[in-house]
Amino acid sequence: MDIKYFLIIAKNTAQMLLVDKTLKINNIKTDLVPAPPESGTVCAIAVKVSEADLGRAKQLLSKEGIEPGGIFEDRKLKLQGLLDSKLQKTVTEEFISILKKIEDGEDLIKSDIAYLLSTEKDKEIEAIFLAADRIRHEIVGDVVEIRGAIEFSNYCIKNCNYCGINASNLGVHRYRMSEQEIIEVVDSLQIMGIKTVILQSGEDPFWTIEKLIALIKAVKDRTGMRITLSVGERSKEEYEKLRNAGANNFLLKIESTNRELFNEIHPDDDYEHRLQCSNWLKELGYINGSGNIIGLPGQTIEDIAEDILYFKNMGINMIGIGPFIPAKGTKYENHPHGDIKLTLRTVAVTRIVCKKVYIPSTTALASLDKDAQVMALQSGANTIMLINTPEKYRTSYKIYDNKFMVDMDAALYAVEKADRKLPTYLRQGAVDSTLDK
Ligand code: SAH
Repeated sequence: MDIKYFLIIAKNTAQMLLVDKTLKINNIKTDLVPAPPESGTVCAIAVKVSEADLGRAKQLLSKEGIEPGGIFEDRKLKLQGLLDSKLQKTVTEEFISILKKIEDGEDLIKSDIAYLLSTEKDKEIEAIFLAADRIRHEIVGDVVEIRGAIEFSNYCIKNCNYCGINASNLGVHRYRMSEQEIIEVVDSLQIMGIKTVILQSGEDPFWTIEKLIALIKAVKDRTGMRITLSVGERSKEEYEKLRNAGANNFLLKIESTNRELFNEIHPDDDYEHRLQCSNWLKELGYINGSGNIIGLPGQTIEDIAEDILYFKNMGINMIGIGPFIPAKGTKYENHPHGDIKLTLRTVAVTRIVCKKVYIPSTTALASLDKDAQVMALQSGANTIMLINTPEKYRTSYKIYDNKFMVDMDAALYAVEKADRKLPTYLRQGAVDSTLDK
């Protein structure tokens, strides 16, 4: 029998964290997942517990005087009408059986996922995108979350073979933003109404834990914004300090779950350690971001299917899927870019398999084709990350060549063209003034 789960919706972020902590210290297994649209809160995170633990969880919360905003059953999503008689005639038996599993909310196995990633039949591909879009609609709704990213340093000690800002690329002009410069951008994001700032950098030892903590505290004190960190591998103690200082989310992509491939593209990193880091982030209660790169040298469809199963089994909350794009001055500078269609397909299948997750329509996709960002929103993706790095630094954060500048205009274009909704938290003025330009 399947285990039933329940979602505890908190009234605000502080309460959500308190609920999670209270349950965890009492040995109740929790997961942090995006709240369902029917809970009425946009961009909120719910605490997921099993039916067996629900009674005890309620008791513990009431003992602590915590009254949650609501409790919903985490229903298995059943979809009807994915497979009509017309479609049945044009697709394979295998596809029909996979689509039935999707309609019934059953788990897909690796060979199903590999089939969906590799089919060449137009009707099947269309049906996959449609299924992903419906699941996205049912589970996270029609609002596209918009987040602002500040790439605050491009110094890096690592030598990831694909990455344009790796330590040995001498063709890169290096910069570090000061705390003051970062705060100025954060203030401008707050004026736009944006609720989450992503602070990303290379692995830069100048940004010690103490400096990062001071930055996090300054951002929180001024704006109360949610903070996503993307600063690479650190020790567990350091992740814990950053979390305690107020960081909410962390992006550390696994890039590929094929161990040999991972070790090949990351000469300074070790797969097991990366996995360890991601587990620490989860244990520490971060909203945990991962993701992969599509089109790495030697990567197979099976590898990508494994990546998707990994995201699901690890309970990853945010999954960034981007095509590989060559960067000048790196080992792979002449390797062709990843396939847009396969990237979109990976987005769609990830939504079908992982369901309640945030999936960005990535900058890398937009860099290959502006309309690919629209298509990703129509095939499973539900967030957009704006690039808010000041102009004088932006072009130096060249993780790959011809990186597209996703600004508010580009985001509005994609949301409108994909026929999706803007978040209500965006200040009307910010949206209008961008449209007027
Ligand atoms: N130093 C941080 C941030 C890295 S940049 C970290 O290691 O986590 C963020 C993401 O950009 C990476 O996780 C990687 O998936 C992506 N990226 C880097 N170079 C790329 C390339 N050439 N093509 C596609 N994606 C790339």
